[in-house]
Amino acid sequence: MPYNPQNIFAKILRGEIPCHKVYEDDHVLAFHDIHPQAKIHILVIPKGAYVDMTDFSKNASEREIAALFRAVAKIAKDHDLESSGYRILSNQGVNGGQEVPHLHIHLFGGQSLGPMLARSQSPF
Ligand code: AMP
Repeated sequence: MPYNPQNIFAKILRGEIPCHKVYEDDHVLAFHDIHPQAKIHILVIPKGAYVDMTDFSKNASEREIAALFRAVAKIAKDHDLESSGYRILSNQGVNGGQEVPHLHIHLFGGQSLGPMLARSQSPF
């Protein structure tokens, strides 16, 4: 799927719509999810135009890839989540339920997060 520069996170990156920013560096922006699904729910995105993890892993530089994952860990530390624990998740495509076609990592924490997938969705 080609990158669509009209997606909502591209607009946030261009400053066309606001976000509640928690972290920024040369390669990464992170902000609170507008519809939080946990006490702490932060979205961590690369500044580069990558649709999803497939696109990012194939086309991003080593520096961008390192920056994204280092940022996730730093944000978790800055929110005191290292010892209490947290979850990261990235949806891709139809089965993943991806809504916004710009790679993003969800960072959840601040509470017990329950099972990894809703039990009703598990085929097992
Ligand atoms: P996904 O389903 O993995 O694509 O997740 C997209 C996420 O983006 C959802 O959790 C939305 O609540 C969140 N979201 C959509 N628009 C905004 C926005 N303007 N600011 C912050 N989060 C947003």
